[in-house]
Amino acid sequence: MRLRFSAPLSVLFSASLSALFFALLLALFSVLSCSAAVSNGEDKPAGVRNIILLIGDGMGPAQFGLLESYARRAPNSIYQGRPTAVSQLMQQGKVLLSDTGPHDVLVTDSACSATQLAIGEASGSEMIGLNARGDSVETILQKAKRAGMRTGLVSDTRITHATPAAFAAHQPHRRFENEIAADLLTTAPDLMLSGGLRYFLPQDAANISTEQQKKISAAQLTLKSKRTDQRNLLSEAQQQGYALAFSREQLAQQQHLPVLGLFASSAMDDAIYASQNPDSIQPDLNELTRKALQLLGASEHGFFLMVEGGQIDWAGHNNDAGALLHELLRFDAAIQEVVNWAAGRDDTLVVLTADHETGGFGFSYSAHDVPAARTLPGNGMRGQAFAPNYNFAPLSLLDRLYAQKKGYYRLWADASSNGKKGLPTADSLMAEVNAALDFPFSRTQAERVLRRDPNPHFDPQTDDPAGATQPHIEDFSDFYVYREERYLNALARELASAQSVVWSTGTHTAAPVPVVISGPEPILQNFQGFTQHAKLGHQLKALIKTD
Ligand code: MG
Ligand code: ZN
Repeated sequence: MRLRFSAPLSVLFSASLSALFFALLLALFSVLSCSAAVSNGEDKPAGVRNIILLIGDGMGPAQFGLLESYARRAPNSIYQGRPTAVSQLMQQGKVLLSDTGPHDVLVTDSACSATQLAIGEASGSEMIGLNARGDSVETILQKAKRAGMRTGLVSDTRITHATPAAFAAHQPHRRFENEIAADLLTTAPDLMLSGGLRYFLPQDAANISTEQQKKISAAQLTLKSKRTDQRNLLSEAQQQGYALAFSREQLAQQQHLPVLGLFASSAMDDAIYASQNPDSIQPDLNELTRKALQLLGASEHGFFLMVEGGQIDWAGHNNDAGALLHELLRFDAAIQEVVNWAAGRDDTLVVLTADHETGGFGFSYSAHDVPAARTLPGNGMRGQAFAPNYNFAPLSLLDRLYAQKKGYYRLWADASSNGKKGLPTADSLMAEVNAALDFPFSRTQAERVLRRDPNPHFDPQTDDPAGATQPHIEDFSDFYVYREERYLNALARELASAQSVVWSTGTHTAAPVPVVISGPEPILQNFQGFTQHAKLGHQLKALIKTD
């Protein structure tokens, strides 16, 4: 009891302060109630019918900038003067900035950040659906379900991955993907569309029904399981009433909820690959989103839908600028589906945000390849040439980034297929990079990328001997934590000067992220200024009425 030792005067003072605070709170509350869209006869703001939450994983302010710069300023932009879906949403609603940080530290991961949005409370690093104390807390999706709304999760990663998991599972760590898969069926959103089949198949994956086998093989997916038990979650889902879909065609046939769509063994295809294979068996994110809106939109009592552009983050971790652009374009195409669907409606709140920034990405000016002096016709030049001291990054870079034909993951795997011990040779790497990117790449650069150093964090007592060395990173080495993927970061460093791109990390930064929020005006009034993800989640959850 802290008051016990306080002087009487300060007790009185704090008592009158609390009275004042309480009065202010009451005043604020009545203002909020008056401004509500529809009065429901109670002293609380009205809810909305539908909530659509769009999460660009790793989509910090500079990533929003890359999408807009490309769309508006690339000489050969595929947008051809059309606005991005992101900027259409911005035009309709308002934009806030939000601190994504967890309870007790500065930088967040996707599990914690999505959890904070989902439960509306501070959470801890790498937790799924738990608050900072470790308690399970009802998520916005679970609350929506309790309120009789339909619910859905869509992601281009896998359904058991941190971001979708945080809305329908409760686990102490994001790595428990088998347990997350089981939790997903316990929570039972009406619609789940993503990858991650391997967490739903029994350990002996051959022990599934003939009908399941037929559908999976029609989708050309492998029958590989990550489970360590014999639970067949596909059968369990079917017993709960779910229809199963594993391919674009099988998804198209679905006309009723609930639906479980698992379109990849693990992660779904990356955006570059997906855009080059439009007739692929696997549906792309915009199609998943369209289908989700078609099925959920028919709901009598509204719906909650979360759609994730999840591989923006992966391109960021790899420091892969061309892939980053393509992931942003894919997410924007999915957002366009939402914007089209919500057009003219006054009952739907659309919220677009990120869980954090990834990579510390930015275009930057440099001393590399400074353009030659030019003569300008303007009358202020006094006969002087136009001759900036540095290379300020020409707009043509945007087209050259767009021209990238493979993401670094796939490029590396392809370069490795001819190499020794699963690694590329300098020659195979040089050939792959030159074939896939519009930025020349030399043998010397390839040799530099393939360097290895002793791993300073290696512990011979506990660690796998393979980890005694790691790919070389020149500086900030501790921020490149995904050991073998450091090769991709090293590749990015070699291309940085030519791309006028810098990266500050292989992980996440604490940059505040934009929140674009569009919907009924009275609801928008509750969202103001610089916010925080747990608070944002709390406000969204409060819009769902359960009584
Ligand atoms: Mg994610
Ligand atoms: Zn990440």
